[in-house]
Amino acid sequence: MSGDTTPGPDTTAALDLTVIAAGVRERVAALAGDLTAMSHAIHDKPELRFEEQHASGLLQRFLADEGFAVRSGIAGMPTAFRAERAFGTGGPVIAVFCEFDALPGLGHACGHNIIATAGAGAAAAVARWLTGPETAGQRPAGTLVVLGSPGEEGGGGKVRLVEAGELAGVDAAVMVHPAGFDSVARTNLGRISLRATFTGHASHAAAAPELGRNALDAATLLLVAIGLLRQQVRADSRIHAKVAEGGDSINVIPERSVVELFIRSPDSGYLRGRLMEAVRDCVAGSALAAGCSWELAEPAPAYDPVLPNQVLAELAAAAFAEVGRDVDPTAVSGNAGSTDMGNVSQVVPALHPYLQVVPGVAIHTREFAAAARGEAGDRAVVDGAALLAAMAGALLSRPALVTAARTAFDARDGH
Ligand SMILES: [Zn+2]
Ligand SMILES: [Zn+2]
Repeated sequence: MSGDTTPGPDTTAALDLTVIAAGVRERVAALAGDLTAMSHAIHDKPELRFEEQHASGLLQRFLADEGFAVRSGIAGMPTAFRAERAFGTGGPVIAVFCEFDALPGLGHACGHNIIATAGAGAAAAVARWLTGPETAGQRPAGTLVVLGSPGEEGGGGKVRLVEAGELAGVDAAVMVHPAGFDSVARTNLGRISLRATFTGHASHAAAAPELGRNALDAATLLLVAIGLLRQQVRADSRIHAKVAEGGDSINVIPERSVVELFIRSPDSGYLRGRLMEAVRDCVAGSALAAGCSWELAEPAPAYDPVLPNQVLAELAAAAFAEVGRDVDPTAVSGNAGSTDMGNVSQVVPALHPYLQVVPGVAIHTREFAAAARGEAGDRAVVDGAALLAAMAGALLSRPALVTAARTAFDARDGH
């Protein structure tokens, strides 16, 4: 496959994928009860980033029972794991990611219970299909790796997995994220996590306010400055913040305040350059006006934008079609968030497609949290497992696809 080939799989590939998709779909159907039960169990006990013992344990036991060798607590994260199973000798190494953390106050409003069980279910289905009667005599060789990646909501678990070398030797990495729409090529934003700390001087708020330096004033000024700055930044970029600390007592001038921010852009250079400088100036200016000192830290790893891979996007579109979902493999419009899968996509060919749960119901809402455990959520678990399994099965069966994905990866901007 070359860059000027008309998009779309050729007839042979489509036929192969249909056969593979039917084979793995049958296995997913047999696993559906276990997968949805596990999805509900994870949803019922939401765990915050890096505290996902329950979810991680369920997934590890499930994969061990399916014949995967499981290594727990990898990359210095107690709830991260790697489950691996080789088929034959050599062949491509395909990684499937499972996320499983929840959001503070909202539970599984990002539907990571669906990501987790669709990913693990896909791996189990491919393993059963690869060792089943259909592939006897012509068994594809390769290795399936399931990476349990904790702390996606702000913690950057995948960044640590990349840094620890867990992606070394991986030929392609896939996952599926639930959403209010189906999409295989929507872009994501790079993201820097920031924490601004202001230090002032405590004093009695009524008896001696003139002796105080109000750190909450600096935080207030920062929010106003950022609100005004938004008009002067690129329309595709985002800045948002919350006051994490704003004082303890009403009758004490707050001596310390903390504002946590995310700044985002699809353009890494703009994000790290102009946007970062402008926000730093807002922090410094707010501190100066309030007579406080300031510090600006990056408390979590930055997320890179997801690097698109058209070969994997076209494969995904075909796999979506096999579960009755029509998607345009080139459609990238719409608002986007950020994901640590972006960092994975910078080191190996990767795809982060979106799978519709309820049309138009957006992630990080209470409505989405409810849907992620309802009938539509269960359907997403089964469809997600089936389409990821079809993708992984196709990549293991057709090494030319892996080569084409690598070629597309190598042809990315700057290389
Ligand atoms: Zn989220
Ligand atoms: Zn998410």
